[in-house]
Amino acid sequence: MIITKAPRGTRDVLPEEAWKWVYLENQFREICNQYGYGEIRTPTFEHTELFVRTVGETTDIVEKEMYTFKDKGNRSITLKPEGTAPVARAYIENKLYAQTQPIKLFYVTPGFRYERPQAGRLREFHQFGIEVFGSKDPAVDAEVISLAMLFVKRLGIKDLELYINSIGCPVCRKAYRKKLLEYIKAVKDKLCNTCKIRVDKNPLRILDCKNETCQKTLADVPEIIENLCNECKEHFDSLKKHLSLMGFDFKVNPRIVRGLDYYTKTVFEIMSHEVGSQNTVCGGGRYDGLVEECGGPPTPGIGFAMGIERLLMTIEAQNIELPKHTPFDVFIVTIGKEADDFGVEFLYKLREAGISADKDYLGRSIRSQMKYADKYNARYTVIIGDEEIKNGVLTIRNMKTGEQMEVKTDKAIDYLKNGGI
Ligand code: ATP
Ligand code: MG
Repeated sequence: MIITKAPRGTRDVLPEEAWKWVYLENQFREICNQYGYGEIRTPTFEHTELFVRTVGETTDIVEKEMYTFKDKGNRSITLKPEGTAPVARAYIENKLYAQTQPIKLFYVTPGFRYERPQAGRLREFHQFGIEVFGSKDPAVDAEVISLAMLFVKRLGIKDLELYINSIGCPVCRKAYRKKLLEYIKAVKDKLCNTCKIRVDKNPLRILDCKNETCQKTLADVPEIIENLCNECKEHFDSLKKHLSLMGFDFKVNPRIVRGLDYYTKTVFEIMSHEVGSQNTVCGGGRYDGLVEECGGPPTPGIGFAMGIERLLMTIEAQNIELPKHTPFDVFIVTIGKEADDFGVEFLYKLREAGISADKDYLGRSIRSQMKYADKYNARYTVIIGDEEIKNGVLTIRNMKTGEQMEVKTDKAIDYLKNGGI
């Protein structure tokens, strides 16, 4: 076992990158607050049964991707592979259905799936997500989509494509499934091996198979969108109207079915063409049967999950500059032992005053202390030597202009604050 390597499919986020994560998280929290969503944090692991029941036994997640283990009490536990089922469980357990509806929630969470690691596909990944419970109004579907779209727009991401579809309700889907199976049975031999298995288990998934031969074979397949019942059709038409009212470009893609069993009616994906084959940045949909399936009262719901790693890949591919991390605004440069002690005391005063500041701890020369301050983009250096201590003054250097000022020690903090620190 190589203990100096993180497990396959996991990675470290170092400070420079973590800064970007925090920025994205702050932006996401801000937009969720603006839209009236409250944050929910659910446990990292749940009873395995929750995912088997909700995500669906025939899905990739449940069939092969879950991190499942027995705990010491012999319970079957699973690290959450997705965020929605835990939130639905929490909605029921905390009786949120008894509060005024709708309940609007957002989360920032890790997810765990045993997948083949590649760019944009990890075994521990992270998601931003939102869920709305208690309204079946298609305007809510449009709101959920608009939050995702406005979020990526605010980050400066361009050219993302929004695809929407409806996969109907249990009533029209059942009738459609029959039609689909009739068509598929006739062409089954031409399908890939995975799809051959899907015919009996989860035929709808065949529709979004990435295999080219499968796609060709399905060229004339009856589309679900043409086979919706009146209620589902009206819902979809209304969603499109609302999206247009908000000015969104979208494409109807009848082949989007999403991998999870609990979806009904609206499904959607936001794709980026710059992040290679793992190009779905955000996926979501309506799940009107989920809460009931988990043992709660019949409750409509809709949400999305956005992959943070894929979001970052898109940001990088589009050369979008995110605010940079500056470890400190002020760096204290000291000359000599006495000055160094004074520096420790003064540094604490700066920090106490809420100023981001640091000093040298390696006994470096003045030159390398200045270089260090410069490397980390310090806005000011405070230079302290014997002379300064004797005279009760400090030399403050504006690193951008090179301007240097002698300032009375007890006025130094005010001086820095007036300088925009
Ligand atoms: P994919 O088509 O990539 O397998 P999915 O349909 O399994 O995605 P969802 O369960 O809908 O994905 O999850 C929502 C989002 O979470 C995805 O669009 C993606 O951005 C991200 N995501 C899912 N699985 C992973 C993973 N293994 N590594 C990184 N991000 C992931
Ligand atoms: Mg997947």
